[in-house]
Amino acid sequence: MIEESAYEALMTITQRPPVVMVYGSGSWLTDHAGKRYLDFIQGWAVNCLGHSPRVVAEALSNQAGRLISPSPAFYNDQALRLANQLVAHSCFNRVFFANSGAEANEGAIKLARKWGSVHRGGAYQIVTMVNGFHGRTLATMSASGKPQWQELFEPKVPGFVKVPLNDLDAVAAAMGPETAAVMLEPIQGEAGVVPATAEFLQGLRALTREKGVLLILDEVQTGMGRTGSLFAYQQARVEPDIMTLGKGIGAGVPLAALLAKEEVCCFEPGDQGGTYNGNPLMAAAGCAVIEEILRPGFLEHTREMGESLRYGLEQLSLKYGLGEVRGAGLLLALVLSDAKGDAIVEKAREQGLIINAARPDTLRFMPALNVTLDEIAICLGILDQVLGEVFGR
Ligand SMILES: *Cc1c(COP(=O)(O)O)cnc(C)c1O
Repeated sequence: MIEESAYEALMTITQRPPVVMVYGSGSWLTDHAGKRYLDFIQGWAVNCLGHSPRVVAEALSNQAGRLISPSPAFYNDQALRLANQLVAHSCFNRVFFANSGAEANEGAIKLARKWGSVHRGGAYQIVTMVNGFHGRTLATMSASGKPQWQELFEPKVPGFVKVPLNDLDAVAAAMGPETAAVMLEPIQGEAGVVPATAEFLQGLRALTREKGVLLILDEVQTGMGRTGSLFAYQQARVEPDIMTLGKGIGAGVPLAALLAKEEVCCFEPGDQGGTYNGNPLMAAAGCAVIEEILRPGFLEHTREMGESLRYGLEQLSLKYGLGEVRGAGLLLALVLSDAKGDAIVEKAREQGLIINAARPDTLRFMPALNVTLDEIAICLGILDQVLGEVFGR
């Protein structure tokens, strides 16, 4: 038993329900009282293989007994293995490993600024999107377009110009001689699963080429199979100059990556680094993850489960007169008719289903990529019951 007073040793940074999670396996989480939950958040789209996947647990324990951290001053075999896998299966040539999505995005911002100073006469501005989310460091908060953050931690890092998503004219109007890059998420996750259209991404690619600036995609949430292809940019048929990965790449452990095309890689020794960056323990986990995702049939399964969940959510939307179902693969959102998201999340948790309200009127679903049809059916069943209670039909 854990006393509630024990919670007070942690700084308050969010409201948490009074449950303590102690065990996880696949799509299921168990709390300290032994209650089981079907988890359709999965550590915030992080556990792409579910909780404590055997391949990752084994990779970690094998590597922990071999070598944990030789320091970033030396090459290590796991970082090399993972970097080569990423390069082989993407349009990029080089990788820098980081420990979180925010840190990978900091790296992307620094790389774009360095590139601007070397190749574009000191250009440093980055055009980013309203409602975009890039992390919680000072620079990535400054790059983010979350309205609630506007007044926080002033003064912000300067150099970010915000425009509405899917508005190519606004991007063109925001560009000038100081512009070094445009940065966005292929699907805005935290904003409530709002996709950039393929047309917009293709237009951005043409525009950034024409103006001679970089295109940066933040695939921290959409990458590593989440949207049904290894990376979301592949579905839009655009090749960015820089991409960041996080979340799914470590399947639950702190691992992230910054990838770039050869011609953009202008960091010089001393510009970028970090004590834990590219350590073989996390890289070994990343290797296990990418090998699993690349197995024949894995992404096909993810796409099929995505279709099944989408169909079920659309049926519930019809039944209760709710809004659209948005997203791709297994990053989906159901728009409600009222701002009852928090009440639904709480009732669902009481019934043993973990989901998220990305906005007060939007439910978000990001189960494990290897979730099963049975688990989707359980999720939809609980949701049906909860929506019935909340919307009284
Ligand atoms: C989660 C997220 C981040 C931040 O990643 P952390 O690992 O929490 O720092 C950045 N960008 C996007 C799109 C995200 O979803």
